[in-house]
Amino acid sequence: MKSLFESVELAPRDPILGLVEQYNADTRANKVNLGVGVYYDNEGRIPLLECVSQAEIAHIEAHAARGYLPIEGIPGYNKGAQTLLLGKDSPLLASGRVLTAQALGGTGALKIGADFLKQLLPTSKVVISDPSWENHRALFERAGFTVETYSYYDAATRGLNFDGMLAALGSLPEQTIVILHACCHNPTGVDPTFEQWEKIAEVVKNKNLVPFLDIAYQGFGDGIEEDAAVVRLFAQQDITMLISSSFSKSFSLYGERVGALTLITSSNEERGRVLSQLKRVIRTNYSNPPTHGGTVVSTVLNTPELYTLWTNELAAMRERIRNMRVQLVEKLKAHGVTQNFDFMLAQRGMFSYSGLTKDQVDRLRDEHGVYAVSSGRICVAALNDRNIDYVAEAIAKVLA
Ligand code: PLP
Repeated sequence: MKSLFESVELAPRDPILGLVEQYNADTRANKVNLGVGVYYDNEGRIPLLECVSQAEIAHIEAHAARGYLPIEGIPGYNKGAQTLLLGKDSPLLASGRVLTAQALGGTGALKIGADFLKQLLPTSKVVISDPSWENHRALFERAGFTVETYSYYDAATRGLNFDGMLAALGSLPEQTIVILHACCHNPTGVDPTFEQWEKIAEVVKNKNLVPFLDIAYQGFGDGIEEDAAVVRLFAQQDITMLISSSFSKSFSLYGERVGALTLITSSNEERGRVLSQLKRVIRTNYSNPPTHGGTVVSTVLNTPELYTLWTNELAAMRERIRNMRVQLVEKLKAHGVTQNFDFMLAQRGMFSYSGLTKDQVDRLRDEHGVYAVSSGRICVAALNDRNIDYVAEAIAKVLA
């Protein structure tokens, strides 16, 4: 009998996972993988945060039954996610206009948001930054949208092409869905300034665009409250919008799939209608979210001592990354690099568009065992006291 799957074509390999396979097969002792998308501590390990550990122990000791959660998830989790985004004193929280659904990571939040929007705005297109997180395009295309890009990164200045971005957004048709990285842009590390965000919000509002803010690195830029400034700015402008947030990085809980989709509606009554439709999207995708990761995050967010512990642990991650940026720039200079790498100090979050060309990235890998994404993106959080000298020397050699 002919196989049902005979005509199935091999899908292209995920470029980042391909890099991991190549790295794992490399036998050089001093190899370094800067192509990853996770935070490693100074020992080169994914940390298990102390606040998470304590919340997990409490959860296990409680011997709680594992019934189904509500379709939209744990109420305390959702409240905690909203508070992180909008600030505890936000009048919006009391207004009953905000709704949050626990989601399967930031990716899951984007996906349920995309499915919901496809139903609401079937003819709208989606625009993402050029470049963007590689899954944005695929995810929105899979949800049925045409995806285009708006100008963002300027390779010549290693910064933002703000005029190009504003002009691109300004020329979009009404109700275009605009994906915006609210902080710590992935892959470039380049964020607009607050004053630039004010202008972006103005265009979004005047042109009646649909903002979908993606915040996957809250706390990795300047701080939890500081990194939510863009969300709060849009909220203050009374813009109705969607926000996907992820706790994968900020709680170092990658495999637990902890994220949230938050929608800011215009009234409590509207919120109820929107929630009823969003619940249908969730119900027909995965029915309801899993318990463990959500319970842990909810416990940390709602227990003052654990919350303080978390903010301290998150601050330590943020400061370690910043310190690695400073050290890398200094060490490149010390190794005789004459090009100016100070732009790395202005970048925010785990990633840096290093400006290395594909050819230089290939040489880094082949000649030195230092792996980076072919775009030149490096994960600064994969640097540590033991490998940073070697990495700086390797980069200096390929630039010489
Ligand atoms: N959005 C951006 C910009 C990201 O960089 C990531 C993860 O790398 C995500 C969303 C997805 O996060 P999660 O792992 O929680 O699905």
